[in-house]
Amino acid sequence: MSRAYNFSAGPATLPLEVLEKAQAELVDYKGCGMSVMEMSHRSKEFIGITESAEKNLRLLMHIPDNYKVLFLQGGASTQFAMVPLNLMSKSKSADYINTGAWSKKAISEAKRYGTVKVVASSEDTTFNYIPEISTDLFSPDADYIHITTNNTIYGTCYPDIPSTGNIPLVADMSSDILSREYDVSKFGLIYAGAQKNIGPAGVTIAIIREDLVGKAMDITPTMLNYQTHVEGESMYNTPPCFAIYMAGLVFEYLLENGGVPAMEKKNREKAAILYDFLDHSSMFKATVESRSRSIMNIPFVTGDEELDGLFIKEATARNLKTLKGHRSVGGMRASIYNAMPREGIEALVDFMKEFEQKNA
Ligand code: PMP
Repeated sequence: MSRAYNFSAGPATLPLEVLEKAQAELVDYKGCGMSVMEMSHRSKEFIGITESAEKNLRLLMHIPDNYKVLFLQGGASTQFAMVPLNLMSKSKSADYINTGAWSKKAISEAKRYGTVKVVASSEDTTFNYIPEISTDLFSPDADYIHITTNNTIYGTCYPDIPSTGNIPLVADMSSDILSREYDVSKFGLIYAGAQKNIGPAGVTIAIIREDLVGKAMDITPTMLNYQTHVEGESMYNTPPCFAIYMAGLVFEYLLENGGVPAMEKKNREKAAILYDFLDHSSMFKATVESRSRSIMNIPFVTGDEELDGLFIKEATARNLKTLKGHRSVGGMRASIYNAMPREGIEALVDFMKEFEQKNA
């Protein structure tokens, strides 16, 4: 068996221990004679899997009791519509902060259902920073304020979560959930596609404060109403069973390995190795200003497209895979989620040093 260091932004590398456990349980889950893929979602085994996944996520994120945890489908992109449909319940307006391509998609979807005010943006410099946010930017009557905590494509993240007073804060946490400690009580709603820090694609997590449920617009399709999934305990229809099972294995793995504080410490150390090299290299440069740097996605460039191409090609041959930057940005991007070992970053930096010497 040969495992590459996979720097993909998502779907992304998963802990080997988790994959091996899933492999061991694949054809006969705990002696019940069938795979998780084959069992009824109403079976006691599967209900046990969902309940323990929820319990463990609550432990990992210290989710208060007045929040519901939902396992949904449709990816974070479906949340771009679900959020306004469910939360634009009073003034039918919301404030958004535009920090990249995913924020923009959330904004254009919300505009279909109400008034959207973009109160801050970093589009002026290709989203290479997080704007300073002060409370006076917010509209007092906004139904909610929406942020993207980590911008997967541009490699930025909020150094601090803005305070929004009584206005619910909604966060797309797709690319940094469980990578650092967040105080869930500061948010009205958190959502995240699973395919970065949680598991395979197919399940989307929503963590919603109870008082925000049950106020959806009349036009809201049943499947896009949070209330449907709260009442159905994420089993209104057939859930993405196997993806939930895999997410549950990842949650167990995280708990066994020190939880989110241990991940955050490791992630900060891992990111520092790469940023430190980038800040001293004469060939490679980080593209993001230092205050806004993500510890999950690190874009970098040489400034020469041909050299970038050669680097990606040679890195791939060394088993350092999926380093090509997003098509809208170019250059390279190393996504170093929880499951990327420190050795992967050390191997990348060693190769970058060698490449720099050879091509200086
Ligand atoms: N938001 C962010 C921050 C993302 O990184 C992504 C996907 N990479 C999305 C939303 C869209 O997620 P999905 O593909 O699950 O719809």
